Amino acid sequence: MGGTFDPVHYGHLRLAEEMAECLDLARVLFIPAGQPPHRGAPRTAAEHRLEMVRRAVAGNPRFVADAREVERAAPSYTVDTLTALRAELGPERPLWLLLGADAFLGLPDWHRWRQLFELANIVVADRPGSPAQHAGAMPEALGREVAQREIADGAAAGPAGAILRRRMTPLDISATALRGILARRGSARYLLPDAVLDYIHGQKLYT
Ligand code: ATP
Ligand code: MG
Repeated sequence: MGGTFDPVHYGHLRLAEEMAECLDLARVLFIPAGQPPHRGAPRTAAEHRLEMVRRAVAGNPRFVADAREVERAAPSYTVDTLTALRAELGPERPLWLLLGADAFLGLPDWHRWRQLFELANIVVADRPGSPAQHAGAMPEALGREVAQREIADGAAAGPAGAILRRRMTPLDISATALRGILARRGSARYLLPDAVLDYIHGQKLYT
């Protein structure tokens, strides 16, 4: 699961937990983007975003904070990260890319996006406020991939190439909204873990 995680919040964590449970994942790697190619520089330095993820995943034995994109100076392309993970796992084991619906709809703008299907399966979680995911609302090229690759919930997937769209407990939480709340010194409690919030206050982030 990639993201800017600026900051990490319960939307991310719950998505990962529900998908890990339904797909029976052994591990979920949270991989903060170093220098995301798709958007302006994150508000917060990569080391802080990584540290917040570390605190957020502490205590969940299958969640791991993974620093590989933060440690890379160049822009972080998901296709490169998945290539590295696939090399570590070998060709047989299923690898899943976890995405929210808004990120999925933007997939055709990603670097070498079609190659992603050779490397991993993709599970897409509904996200409140994200445009509908029906075929008409999707970029045409993405709709074609979905038509070919979509599998039903509970169906077996191979190592790569499947797309599963799945509901999750709807949580209308975004890092953008959190940055706004924190900037006006509002309460962000119960939208993200206390351990992350304590770090934000201790480091005076987002003020
Ligand atoms: P920002 O508002 O800064 O874009 P964000 O809350 O969207 O932050 P990201 O780091 O951009 O968080 O998202 C990482 C991944 O998590 C993306 O795939 C995104 O779709 C997904 N995601 C984030 N929040 C939610 C949520 N509340 N429900 C479902 N998916 C989510
Ligand atoms: Mg986002």
